[in-house]
This record gives sequence, structure tokens and C-alpha cells, in this order.
Amino acid sequence: MAKLEFTTDIQYLKGVGPKRGAVLAAHGIDTVGKLLYYFPRKYIDRSQVATIASLREHDYKTVVGRVIGKGLLKGGKTRLEVVLGDDTGYLSLIWFAGYRYLEKQFKKGDELAVTGTVGYFMGYQMLHPEYEFIGDGTEDQIHTGRIVPIYPLTAELQAVGLTSRSIRKLIKGALDALGDGIVEYLPAEIIKSENLPDLAEAIRHIHYPNDAESAESARKRLAFDELLYLQFLLQSRKFRYKQRDKKFICGRPGELFTSVIDRLPYHLTPGQKSSLDQIIDDMTSSKPMNRLLQGDVGSGKTAVAVLAAVLAIENGGQAAVMVPTEILAGQHYANWKDLLGQAGITCGLLIGSMHAREKKVVAAGLGSGEIKLVFGTHAIIGESITFADLRLAVVDEQHRFGVLQRGRLAGKGDYPDRLVMTATPIPRTLAMTLYGDLDISTIPDLPPGRIPIRTVWRFASALGDIYKYIDEELGRGNQAFVIFPLVEKSEKMDLQAAEEGFRELSTELMPHRRIGLVHGRIKADERDRTLQRFHDGELDMLVATTVVEVGIDIPNANILIIQHAERFGLAQLHQMRGRVGRGTRRGLAVAIAYQPMSDIGRRRLDYFTSTTDGFKIAEADLELRGPGEFFGTRQHGLPEFRLANPITDQPILSSARVWAEKLYGDYRKTRKRPDFLLNHAAIFSTLRADLMSVA
Ligand code: ADP
Ligand code: MG
Repeated sequence: MAKLEFTTDIQYLKGVGPKRGAVLAAHGIDTVGKLLYYFPRKYIDRSQVATIASLREHDYKTVVGRVIGKGLLKGGKTRLEVVLGDDTGYLSLIWFAGYRYLEKQFKKGDELAVTGTVGYFMGYQMLHPEYEFIGDGTEDQIHTGRIVPIYPLTAELQAVGLTSRSIRKLIKGALDALGDGIVEYLPAEIIKSENLPDLAEAIRHIHYPNDAESAESARKRLAFDELLYLQFLLQSRKFRYKQRDKKFICGRPGELFTSVIDRLPYHLTPGQKSSLDQIIDDMTSSKPMNRLLQGDVGSGKTAVAVLAAVLAIENGGQAAVMVPTEILAGQHYANWKDLLGQAGITCGLLIGSMHAREKKVVAAGLGSGEIKLVFGTHAIIGESITFADLRLAVVDEQHRFGVLQRGRLAGKGDYPDRLVMTATPIPRTLAMTLYGDLDISTIPDLPPGRIPIRTVWRFASALGDIYKYIDEELGRGNQAFVIFPLVEKSEKMDLQAAEEGFRELSTELMPHRRIGLVHGRIKADERDRTLQRFHDGELDMLVATTVVEVGIDIPNANILIIQHAERFGLAQLHQMRGRVGRGTRRGLAVAIAYQPMSDIGRRRLDYFTSTTDGFKIAEADLELRGPGEFFGTRQHGLPEFRLANPITDQPILSSARVWAEKLYGDYRKTRKRPDFLLNHAAIFSTLRADLMSVA
């Protein structure tokens, strides 16, 4: 066979060809090297699985067995039953959804590993278990070893026959064909002093570990590479920012600034004060500010940002605050325009759904410098928008904006001061290592007088009782949110679920209550009207998709019901909880979970109900993610790692940082790019894009 290299086009690998090659390339695997960096999502340790005879109801377990038979069961809801047998007994696997597709997947004799919660219905069964094909017994060693790697799959991969098993085969083929062609790219001194396996061994063992230890040492080595790459890029970016000089330097706060502070209906909390002091120091220095402001939901970040804006304005400049939704932009505008107007500061609102005529007026005001502070969505960074003199660019909930969008706001000025804000705090030491080049301010405290929210989680079977309880609460004048998940992948079904939930509540369960519905497909003006009515107490209940998660303020709403809570990340759950209980009444959050729910899902909900501390939540959220579980890391604005876990791998992170500083120093002296950089630029291209999106 022709000698393969890392950079060989994937379609030349035996078993791939043009068709599979195209699908793999669409998944970012266009070379043989990238296939080797397609890491298992998990391993099944065949010595650790449960026997069928040992299963008990409610257990969450993995079982390995063979398909004994299958059939579609009619009568009631049609479902697929697959009977799995091992040496000790039989287990029914049941699927209600997707049974037509699934029926074709299983053949008698197939060996499967299935994971799920054990239920009992005329015998033990698992409903919608996770399943993996792990070999048909005639395969060679790679499929039947004690530790079996399981790869992340998509419907597109499966459509061209790429299952965990066939990916294992491809990787085996690639490793054999490469032979000793996997060349170490880390300096020998790092390998030695960090006691890492070499690259060839790490790649082999991440796919075919001998045991759990060799898998972990391979993972550590590759996670080190990932973190080293990240730290190196951060070093270089930090250096670039430091070189730049600001065109205009703010003076210290004066009369205008003081007059706005005096008009606030509250005193700043200590955390707001110290963050603001740091921001003022930056703005009055000669280098552009590049600061992250983090604080839990409700900690009052907006006031800090607005006061920074006032400083820019007092010095003759303009400021912009970009937020992810129109609702939020409108709310900020409504909250601040009068107060600031009284101080002589003209504010503007710029959102996509405004009439072209209105937009023109605002655009003209920004261009002439008449509007000093604009709140808006990404409409602010539209082509046609120019600022007379933008000195402060604030981006709220920064993780929700793409790379380009964020850069473009600052691009509307001449190196303006930049402030990004996030409501998902991460531990300070971690933030410093991960953001590297961003300075960080933290608001650790909430404004006084907030009453902690009571949180519980229940299975959906309890919904009847829950709604009865909620109905009584509504009768006492309380207001409730009911939140449905909405994700891009399943948007259509999710919207249907929200609409169906709304219909059920308003016609069957609580016809006597005033209930509203908002989601992204409802016209902005109608959505705003509904929100306004909810805000004004004309509605008792608001059914919504996750749009409300991003910071709107309804002080009276004190009850939150989260549907399909098992589908949300911990940090996201916490953000939603921040929407209620801001007023004087005690808040209540009820998370409703549906089966099947994974063990991690259960631990997430248990943790969610155990604390309201945003820092602890963020930490647990990162910790509860397995490697390769990318979904949701965006909430932190953190880069998406393949193997590294920034919480549990902190020791690796620190040593990677030290080495990155050294390597970057060497690079500055010799101007010779280190080997690992070239390799990683090719393989971790997504990491690079993510990193660039951090600021
Ligand atoms: P977040 O940090 O989540 O963006 P907001 O800026 O939306 O929080 O503030 C949440 C609420 O707290 C707002 O209603 C705001 O008026 C109020 N608030 C902000 N700062 C204080 C303070 N120092 N004392 C009392 N209330 C405050
Ligand atoms: Mg906010």
C-alpha cells in the first residue's frame, strides 16, 4: 500500500473513497491526520458491564449482549422491541420514536452495548437506551478488546455506513498504513520533564487502550497539546494588544459622571464599585481596555457598563452596548433613557425590527455624534452604521455573538475601550489562565435584599400536582414563567412543543388564567406586547422558549417551570433561574425532567437544586461535562476542547502555560515557529477559531 501521511486526503484511505470522504470532510475530517484526532467519546470497559440477571428497576446501567429477536409491537402506540440476551437472561429494549429506522439497524446475532435506566413492564426493559454495536464476534482483536472505544456519530456519518465499529476499522487501517510515520512535534525536554507518552503512543492508546490507565495517560498527553496550543496563541495575542496605543485617553470622572451616580435609585454594591474602579483605571490609561466583566445573573452588570459609557461620553466620545436579543435591548433602553436624558445624555435604540425610517434617524444620530449611547442588537454593527467617535464598545452575554460580530463592534471605532460581560462566571484562576489576554473584573455579590430561590426537580409524571400547586399560587397574584427548550437542531419540534404546551395550559389545565406565549417565530412587536403585558401584571403566566433566558427583567415573576430540564446545561438552568425572584416575593423554580435521563443528567439536576451560587454552578457544569461533550461550552465563552477539561485538568493547564511562555519567548528571539504549532494549526483549526472568538 502506498505510504500515507498525516496530510494525505482522507479519501485515499482504504475503506473510504469519494463518498465517505466527502461526508468525513464535512465533519472536519479531510485528512488522515484529522481522522486520528477524531477521538472516542467514551470507552466501554467490558469487564465493568452489568449482567442482565443483576439488573434492578431504576438502575442506570450498561449491559452487553446479543440481539435475540426484534419486532414492531402494534396496539396502542407502535413501538420497536429488541430482545437482548446475555448468559444470564433477557432484556427488552423499547423505542417509540424512530422505530422504522431503528428496526433496520439491528440484526439477530449483533452484539450490542446498551446503556439506560431499567424499567419494569412485564419484565425488565430499557426505554430508548443508548446503544453501540461493539462487534459481531468474527472481528479481529480491535473490536473485542476489553476496552472498546465509542466514537461520536451523526446521522450523516451513519448514512454512509460509518458506525463506531467501522470508524475503529478505518483508524486501525490508518495507523497500520502510517507505520512509524507519526512524528513527535513536542520538544524532547517537554516530553521528558512532563513525563508524557510520545505522540505515536498517545494516538494509538487513545483509540486502542490496553486498560483504563493507558487511555488516561494518552488523553492527558493530547490534552496537554491542546492546552499548550491555546496558551501559545494567548501569549501571542497578549503581546499584540500590549503594543498598541490608544488614540484618545479618558480623563477621570467629573460632574456628569457624579450626577448620573446620584440619580441611580440604589447604591452600588461593593463588587460593582470595585469593578467600576478597575474599568476607570483602564479607560484613563494609554492602552486600550480589553476587559471581561463577570458576575452572576442579577448582579447589576448593566449599571457598571452604563457608568463606563458615561465616562466615555463625559470625555466627548460615544458608547455602544450590544446585547443578543431585541427584547433585552429594548429593556435596557427603556430603563436608562430617562435617567440619562435628565443628565443631558441622549440615548438611542437600534434593533433589526425597527422601521427603516426609524433606523435612519438613529443612524444619523450616531453618525453626527448627537446620540451618545446606543443600546442595540447586532443591528449596531450593520454596514451602514457609523459612529462619530466610538470610544467604548460593550458586548453583553458575549458568548452569544460570533467571532466576527464581536470584532466588528470595536471596529466601528479607532481602537476603542472594550468591555465584554458574561453572566456565567468561572473561577478566577481558571479565567486568568483561559482568557490570558483579557483583564477580568468580577462582581461577587448580589444587590442586597434578594431572597434566595427555592429550587426542586421532579419527573414529568408529577406535572399534574405541580400545575395544581402553581394554579393556587397564581390565584394569590403570583406570576409564572414556563420555559421550553429550543435548540437549532430540533427547532421545529421544539416550537411545536412550546405551542402545544401553551394550548394545553390555556385551554385544558388553566383556562381561567391569563396566559401568554412568546418565542422566536412570533413577530417582534407582538412578542414585545405580550412581554409588556406580563411585565404589567396583565398576564398570570408566560409560556416561552429560551428567549427569556437572556436577561429580561420582570420583577414580579417569581415562579419558574423549566420543561425538559434534562436537556439544559447546568449554567443555562442557572441563568434561567436568575429571571425569577428579583422582587420581594420568594422565588420558586421547578425543573421538570423526562425519561430517558442519563446519570449525568440526574447529577446535574441534583446539583442545580443544591446551590444558587453561580460560581459553584459554573464549576460543576464544566466538571460534569465529559470530554468530547462540546454542547454548551459556548455558555462560558470558552474554547471548545476535544479532550481537555479546563476544570479537572488544571494541573495540566498550569504546566502548559509555563511551557507556552517559554516557547513563545524562544519564538520571539529566533522567529522560528515551533513544530507543534504547525501541526496543531492544521488539526485544531476549530480551537483556533474559538479562541479568536473569546474576545
Ligand atoms: P445582570 O448582571 O444580570 O445583567 P442587571 O444589570 O440586569 O443584572 O441588574 C439586575 C437588577 O438589579 C436590575 O433591576 C437593576 O436595576 C438592579 N440593580 C443593579 N444594581 C443594583 C444595586 N446596586 N442595588 C439594587 N439593585 C440593583
Ligand atoms: Mg445582563
